[in-house]
Amino acid sequence: MIRFPALGAGLFALLTAAPAPAAPPEATVPNPLLAPWTGPHGGVPPFDKVEVALFEPALEAAMAEQLAEVERIANDPAPPTFENTLAALERSGGAMDRVGALYSVYSGNMGTPEFQAVQREMSPRLAAFNDQILQNEKLFARVAAVYDPRESAKVTPEQKRLTWYTHTNFVRAGAKLDAAGKKRVGEINQRLATLFTTFNQNLLADETDDVLVLDGEKDLAGLPDALRAAAAGAAEQRGHKGKWAILNTRSSTEPFLTYSDRRDLRQKVWTTYYNRGDHGDAKDNNAVVTEILKLRAERAKLLGYETHAHWRLENTMAGTPERALELLETVWKPAVARVHEEVADMQALAGGAARSAAATRSPRDEAQIRIEPWDYRYYAEKVRKAKYDLDENELKPYLQLDKLREGMFWVAGELFGFRFSPLQGIPVYHPDVTVYEVKDAALRHVGLWYFDPYARPGKRSGAWMNAYRVQERFRSEVPTIVSNNANFVKGQPGEPVLVSWTDATTLFHEFGHALHGLNSSVSYPSLAGTRVSRDFVEFPSQLLEHWLSTPEVLNRFALHHQTGKPMPADLARKIERAATFNQGFATVEYLASALIDMKLHLAGEKTIDPDAFERETLAALGMPPQIVMRHRTPQFAHAFGSDSYSAGYYSYLWSDTLTADAYEAFVEAGGPYDKAVARRLRDTVLAVGNTVDPVDAYRAFRGRDPQIRALMLKRGFPVPAEASTTR
Ligand SMILES: [Zn+2]
Repeated sequence: MIRFPALGAGLFALLTAAPAPAAPPEATVPNPLLAPWTGPHGGVPPFDKVEVALFEPALEAAMAEQLAEVERIANDPAPPTFENTLAALERSGGAMDRVGALYSVYSGNMGTPEFQAVQREMSPRLAAFNDQILQNEKLFARVAAVYDPRESAKVTPEQKRLTWYTHTNFVRAGAKLDAAGKKRVGEINQRLATLFTTFNQNLLADETDDVLVLDGEKDLAGLPDALRAAAAGAAEQRGHKGKWAILNTRSSTEPFLTYSDRRDLRQKVWTTYYNRGDHGDAKDNNAVVTEILKLRAERAKLLGYETHAHWRLENTMAGTPERALELLETVWKPAVARVHEEVADMQALAGGAARSAAATRSPRDEAQIRIEPWDYRYYAEKVRKAKYDLDENELKPYLQLDKLREGMFWVAGELFGFRFSPLQGIPVYHPDVTVYEVKDAALRHVGLWYFDPYARPGKRSGAWMNAYRVQERFRSEVPTIVSNNANFVKGQPGEPVLVSWTDATTLFHEFGHALHGLNSSVSYPSLAGTRVSRDFVEFPSQLLEHWLSTPEVLNRFALHHQTGKPMPADLARKIERAATFNQGFATVEYLASALIDMKLHLAGEKTIDPDAFERETLAALGMPPQIVMRHRTPQFAHAFGSDSYSAGYYSYLWSDTLTADAYEAFVEAGGPYDKAVARRLRDTVLAVGNTVDPVDAYRAFRGRDPQIRALMLKRGFPVPAEASTTR
């Protein structure tokens, strides 16, 4: 199968880009990373045989093998057919798929300095490799011949979709350009691959190196016990035994900003976190961003598009940047209005007058506490307590990681008939990783699910899903292998790991991606599972978040870690009542990033100073001064760590519009566990992968196009009169 890097085929199309590889090194011993996978269920990844030094020769050999396969397809003397061209391309690159899966696991989870050196070396070469395939003129001529309407009339709908998909991706990558144009696109892709690697490694360095060490009770004021324990563990790992460390990552800084009574330390932690990639030293990302934007704009023009954003959004559900912006802007105003209300509530607790951008400040106001960005989470938590009598710390004892995992399995059983059971003796890349077999209601094998829940040095921050192998059946039944990865802080041996409500929601979110992959039932791997349009892929994942707060899950699985008693009904009710609390903040910090991402990529070829662009654009939008972008430009890995989410951060809101609207379908029927709606969701959305246009898939599920009403209600915003933004 070919990787279409710019389209972000999988969730983590980490093999981002492709030049002519050198001849593979002379191999005397077979490289174990190239070998077909052995073991149960169609084979499993050979993590026990991985050594970092094996990656470079394995990738080189896999590239050479696929290029040879592609040459054979391109030079086939027989006239082009679906079978000898499209299906043949799907069959190609087996070794590349296997090595690529291992390489992507190491990129996300095992980023040692030794592996990072391999990435720096390989990323431009992989970019050149992809272009070598996509710019192969004989190959494209064959694909185009099959794409011809007279030819494509002879194929099944799925084969027709695959032909369209492959053809359009060749064209989008520059297959119709002249030789000079192709050469320039290739140069740009290689340079971008290097810049993405630099961006990511700078960011990882800032997240790893900047640690705030706390020294005693005074520094710990306000921090709950669980957070103190985690900080003590983190300090000990970094050679500060007996002290407490706040790491420069989201999962470490957010709870600190929520609970620390020390305003000076909050300001310090906040400033360090939001200045990642932006402090004028050797790891500064501003110049990297400027160059990425310039190259993307040049490439888009070469390929015949107005801007990078227009190129990226073609063939998405939104279709054009204008339609994506329209949705973002529809939600922006009510969200900002809500922020002003939230700030007023906080200000009332903090004392002092609320600051607005236009307000003139008297010397008296200056003397009082005014809500600043490092105060938002802290005072929001106090308002939550005052208004809803809900303390996040009250929830945590009921949110045990192991029980939540069982809860997710149970939900997957109720909705899709899946059963999960642990498998022993499967090779893993780290002892923390566990492996489960997934079976369907008839006890047939469906796939494997790898779970890697804990933070450790060298693992990228956040949480994600990955597919080590996608489902396919055009040759024989190939079951999928998926993983969920997160950054929970590992507890003491024998102690349960307690997580926050937000983290529990994230856990369900990523599991939603995994279920999308596990439900896949298609013929061709390029169209399987989560390989759908970016603004559709977050729909199944955000949808599954809704099941966490169902009474069925809370009563069975939100069990107190000491008493084993389920979460009391009134606590569950408080969660429900507070569901729209702080949605102004959450929506505005997200939207600010989504708007900047889109506007940066609509700006064309002019040289952009990221700091100035961010400042001026946010001022023009009326950004509340108490909030900062969730991802500021020099740390915005979605936009600059690869092409795959660039001009695509809007996708989360786009998908959430679908999500909110789709959940209503369950509510309107028998509730979240309605079997008929769950089956329809599986058959029309999850099983079909990218074999169906997402617009049609959604229509088949809902019986109509999505409406924005449910999204606005879910976030507690007024429903606009013209309540239909998305197609
Ligand atoms: Zn997601």
